[in-house]
Formats: sequence, C-alpha cells, structure tokens
Amino acid sequence: MSSPNPARKYRLATEMVHGGATRSAWGETSEALILTSGFVYDRAETAEARFKNEEPGFQYSRFGNPTVSMFEERMALLEGAPAARAMATGMAAVFAALFCQLRAGDHVVAARAMFGSCRFIVEDLLPRYGIQSTLVDGKNIDAWRAALKPNTKILFFETPSNPTLELVDVAAVASLAREIDARVVVDNVFATPFGQRPMELGADVVVYSATKHIDGQGRCLGGVVLGREKFIIDELLPFIRNTGPSLSPFNAWVLLKGLETFPIRVEQQARSAARLADAIAGMPRISRVIYPGRADFAQAELAARQMRNKGTLVAFDIDADKAGCFRFMNALRIVKISNNLGDAKSLVTHPATTTHFRLTPEARAELGIGGGTVRLSVGLEDVDDLVEDVANALTAI
Ligand SMILES: *Cc1c(COP(=O)(O)O)cnc(C)c1O
Repeated sequence: MSSPNPARKYRLATEMVHGGATRSAWGETSEALILTSGFVYDRAETAEARFKNEEPGFQYSRFGNPTVSMFEERMALLEGAPAARAMATGMAAVFAALFCQLRAGDHVVAARAMFGSCRFIVEDLLPRYGIQSTLVDGKNIDAWRAALKPNTKILFFETPSNPTLELVDVAAVASLAREIDARVVVDNVFATPFGQRPMELGADVVVYSATKHIDGQGRCLGGVVLGREKFIIDELLPFIRNTGPSLSPFNAWVLLKGLETFPIRVEQQARSAARLADAIAGMPRISRVIYPGRADFAQAELAARQMRNKGTLVAFDIDADKAGCFRFMNALRIVKISNNLGDAKSLVTHPATTTHFRLTPEARAELGIGGGTVRLSVGLEDVDDLVEDVANALTAI
C-alpha cells in the first residue's frame, strides 16, 4: 500500500469519503481492516531494508499499520495539516504531544480552563519531571504575556474550553510564542477540525480526542496529533514508537468510517446547537446561556474571527440549586446523562459534581461553574424534540 500525499485535491466532504484510502489486492470498496500485529517479509533483505528505512512498508503495528495510516492520512486532510499520528486515546495524544518535546528545565504555560486530565498533566505530572508550569486565565492575553519566561517551551490550551466555552485568541497567543521561539499546542476537541483550524491561526501542534466528534457515535476511544512533518517524524514518532500508545487497527477502522459522515454530522449538530441555545435562552428559570454563536456571548467578536462554525456544545445556568438541577437532568427523556460529548445522542453533564468535582469551589467559580451549570452536547436528534425535552424537564425543577 502506498501513502498518498495529504495535500487536499478535492473539497472536504469528498476527501472525508475517499481521502487516504488505499486498497489491498482484493479491491474492496470499504477500507480494509488490517487486524494484524506484525508483517511478513518475502526475504531477509526486505526486512533489513525496511528497518533501515531504505524501503517503504510496514513492520509492526506499534509504529505503523495500513488501517491506522489511512485514518491518519484522512485526518491530515481534514485538518489541512502536513502530517498526523493516531493514538489510543485523546489523553495519550495530549501526553505524547507534550512529553515528546519537553525536557527537565523547560517551562509550560497553559490556560486554566481545561479538560481535567489535561490539567492533571500540566499541574501535577510535568513538575514531577522537572518541568515547571504556570496556569493563566486563557482569555487574557496580558496574563499569557506576563507568564512567559526565557525557558518557556510550550503554550497549551483548549478553545472553546470545557465546560463554559471560554475562548483563547489563537493568533494572539501564537504571535507571543513566536517572539520567544516557543510552540503552541491546541486541544481542538470542542471546536472540531470543521469549526476551527488552529494551524492556520499560527499554532504548531493540534491535538484531538477522536473519541468525540470524529467517531461521533460513541463507540471507541482514539486520539490524534497533527503538525508539521518534521515535528511528527523527528519528535513525535520516536516517542510513540518506543513508548507504545498505539491506536488499535480496529478502532482506527471505526474512526475512519466515522470521518465519512463527519462533515454532515458536525454541521447538523452545530446548527441544532445554535437553535437549541436560542430556544433555551427564552425558557423560564434559565439565568445564562453560553454558546459562541450567540450575540450575547462574551467573546462573540473573537468567535466570529476564529471559528467557522460555533460548535456542538451549549452550556447554561439553571436558576436552581444542585438538587433542582438534578431534578431537571433526571426529567430529560431524550437527552441522556453522560460525561461524553460529540455523540449522535444528545448528552448532558453536571460539571460541578462530575468532570470538575475535584476542583476547589474557588477554582470552579473562577471557571464560571456553579451548582446550576449544565453542559449539553447536542446530537443528531430532531432539534424540535430536543427543545421540547429541555422545556418539559425544566418544569420538573
Ligand atoms: C475527551 C477529551 C480529552 C481526552 O480524550 P480521551 O479520548 O477521553 O482520552 C481531552 N481533551 C478534551 C477537550 C476532551 O474533551
């Protein structure tokens, strides 16, 4: 199997159906699931040539597999990135993207509004290995500037953030990073590669949990790191090759099929999210609705500037305590209670008692997470049913 060049030849939807596909000798229509750990060589000379990188071909699925490669090629096309490598989970991707380029003595600046496990890596894990870290208010560009040190190597953030959808100005942070020769790593899960292209805005590395919109149907875990060819080949590849966070070919195959429907799913989900956000804003007992596409969004100008669509997540505050909020969630019939997101099924989370319960009340307050805050990941159901489900459940408070 040969590796096509990831430069996009056709429009996005076409590339998501055909891009990166290579066929086996059988000429299958649907991409082959090559479920194998290793590969055999016709001759000992071939094995030698492959290990010396003098001949293309696969050796062992920890560092390369045809089904995984097809997924990586298609992801590179989706992101418009020169190169991609897939990993077993989103967290494996975040961990590898950071640790493959950091060493003791380096310093990392990160936005504090961040997925819990990412925050654990930055706050707890990095310092254990002699890498200092500083958390800042990602919305405030002066805070980023003030946190930089001569040894700052990476600026890391999510935008929009979980769960209150705070934005970081990617271009502004990237230009700060360039001044000191640091790199920008963006966790782009909430925006999706359809909604925002961090590399076009100056980021060096983009990371995804493919578990979310890329699978999009709640089936399997996966992660992806995208960046320039040199970074992927020289820094990331040796790290993952020798530490082993590889994506299973089976999961790669599921994710590859997920990409075929990715553009229509995410576009529809974002359209429904915008509709639902507006409908919720007009409902009783709602004190705040957060959606980057709304005119009352605190960073609406930045959202318009850096996001193509405004995402599939909506957050809102119910004018109720935790118990009232739970009565609302328990009364939902279509929307399911789950901490996952990006699924075809609409999912609701109470961040204060689940994803963010480990934070102190002060840290939660800093992020705008209260007892009445709810995060809703909008799925593929008919949006009118979702509007009615939320309206009915609010009467249960
Ligand atoms: C889910 C998620 C992750 C982690 O991904 P897994 O696939 O669950 O390991 C990282 N960052 C963000 C923003 C996420 O939503």
